[in-house]
Amino acid sequence: MYSNSTYHTLAIAGREVTVHTRTDYIDNRSRKKGRVFTSVPREMLDAVPRPSVDDFPHLDLPDIHTRRGEYPEVDKAWDRHNRALVKVWREWTTAALEQVFGEGKVHFSRKAGCACGCSPGFIASQVPWHTDVWVSVKE
Ligand SMILES: [Zn+2]
Repeated sequence: MYSNSTYHTLAIAGREVTVHTRTDYIDNRSRKKGRVFTSVPREMLDAVPRPSVDDFPHLDLPDIHTRRGEYPEVDKAWDRHNRALVKVWREWTTAALEQVFGEGKVHFSRKAGCACGCSPGFIASQVPWHTDVWVSVKE
């Protein structure tokens, strides 16, 4: 197996954004679509509102991290929070891919990087097969 990589530095919305790609040439017939893993400065994620026990005074929760299924309205609040985080990653991903690949559309997948769900990312059909892309928005 050998691989090829590229490195781009972009300016998006006044931020430096790096795009690193690595394509692995593997001798098999699998057709693995490109994957994109995006990181943004912590403060952008911290700016996304998080559920809090104060949002649910009637539930008298000891902790906002409840077991899924126990409090459906808390689950919904976490789902909203997670969608809002994905939106942040998606906006930067789309903008970066538009510049590098001419097309920004991507599909979020919790299992983009690993079947266990530990590395969520985006599946991108404009990215070459067998290529991983790391988009990094600088502080
Ligand atoms: Zn995993």
